[in-house]
Amino acid sequence: MKILMVTSEAVPFAKTGGLADAVSALAIALSRLGHDVRVVMPRYYRIDRSKLSLVPGPMGVHSGYQEIWTGLYEGVLPGSKVPVYFIDHEESYGRDGVYGTAGETDFNDNPQRFSLLGHAAFQLCRKIRWFPDIIHAHDWAAALAPIVLKFNERRGEFAQTSSVFTIHNIGYQGVYSKHLFPYTGLSWDNFYAAGFEDWDRMNFLKAGIISSDKLTTVSPTYAKEIQRPEYGFRMDGILRYRSKDLVGILNGVDTDIWNPQTDPLIPSNYGPKTLAKKAVNKAALQKRMGLPVDPDVPVVGIVTRLADQKGVSELFGPAYGSAWRICTEINLQMVVLGAGEQWCENEIASLSHSLPNFRAFIGYDESLSHLIEAGSDFFLMPSRYEPCGLNQMYSLLYGTLPIVRRTGGLADTVENYDEQTGEGTGFSFDNLTPQSILDTVGWAAYAWYNKRDHVNAMRIRGMSRDYSWDGSARHYEEVYSSARPSAGV
Ligand code: ADP
Repeated sequence: MKILMVTSEAVPFAKTGGLADAVSALAIALSRLGHDVRVVMPRYYRIDRSKLSLVPGPMGVHSGYQEIWTGLYEGVLPGSKVPVYFIDHEESYGRDGVYGTAGETDFNDNPQRFSLLGHAAFQLCRKIRWFPDIIHAHDWAAALAPIVLKFNERRGEFAQTSSVFTIHNIGYQGVYSKHLFPYTGLSWDNFYAAGFEDWDRMNFLKAGIISSDKLTTVSPTYAKEIQRPEYGFRMDGILRYRSKDLVGILNGVDTDIWNPQTDPLIPSNYGPKTLAKKAVNKAALQKRMGLPVDPDVPVVGIVTRLADQKGVSELFGPAYGSAWRICTEINLQMVVLGAGEQWCENEIASLSHSLPNFRAFIGYDESLSHLIEAGSDFFLMPSRYEPCGLNQMYSLLYGTLPIVRRTGGLADTVENYDEQTGEGTGFSFDNLTPQSILDTVGWAAYAWYNKRDHVNAMRIRGMSRDYSWDGSARHYEEVYSSARPSAGV
């Protein structure tokens, strides 16, 4: 199949979140399965043109009020032959930031910028004379591509093209004033309640959900959750309406980077048969974080964005968060790596100063994140919602038992411990309250001190799980096939 991925980010070129990893890894996995996969994205200021090749000639994109003339560059996803096309337009993309900057978190011309991307995807195909069977758009910033396909472009060379739209995080929807709607290049006929309109504003994600042939999200449980008001961010109604076209497919893990047997960022490599060597990493982590080096005390690790989605209010909220009680009432050590909301950074800095068994590093640190996965005994993720989540899968592969709230991808990947049989791969709880977090960490610590044989068996079980992208890519193949015009005939 010929598949065009339309995205606002893809590693290594631009990344603000897990979307960037998922798009590139999926594209590469699909191309390994024999598909002709290509990616189109903006050429942001930080993407160095001198490392790309210029596709000669200007490209005219009719978008909204005007004909926009763009350049086109071509590169490749590292380690593959997957071509990446970059839409070059100084006024739209020649600046710092993908969606915004620290000072302006959401650029006010984002409707124009990402409408251009949606229309340019089609002009690109015409320019290179390559017409996809599937247009696969990711998140709200790429949502215009399936919308334009449905309402303007599904004819001629695109007559047989189908669309798939993936929701990586429904919390981000691209909602703007309707005065900017003409920039989408669509007719006002599309601005209605079962389309772009959202309480008299325009909503890219909503229109993408309505217009795409098939919808996916990044775990089976999240696919169900977003059809409920608590998780749907107001999209639950239209998702229930499209329920039969919505599938949840777990993201994979890049096992070239996240494999304890080969990871160059940890002091001692290990696997299920050499689990004892994990202790070397634990000692290195304790030393690096300034904690007493003690193999007999369990270490609970956390690596996270310090954002409400991750349950940090319940964990670190001043005066009521559970971290203080966890560290004072349970004999364990806790290490945190994270950056994000200021109040939370302040709070964990202050816990670090006042508790002897709590240490935090505030910032982004790739190598420390690997050491925490390898050196911890448990890994805590009390997420409010988690579309897929990667860290719990890294933890399982590293023999570090996850302690998670049972939501989204966490519910799909962590099997709860059964004290009677010793079955399971981690510890789960349902209610996001400081007390539940405390109780579940307490339960894990109890298992560590009293049921070490169960803990070790669970580790080995988790390490043998398969989270490769190949498996996910095969599921996407099925979705693509079901989106084709002949499907179901
Ligand atoms: P999300 O995309 O919602 O942040 P995921 O669990 O899907 O959550 O992915 C987060 C990724 O970012 C993981 O690879 C995690 O290790 C990494 N990460 C998050 N915060 C940090 C940090 N402060 N330092 C290093 N890596 C981090």
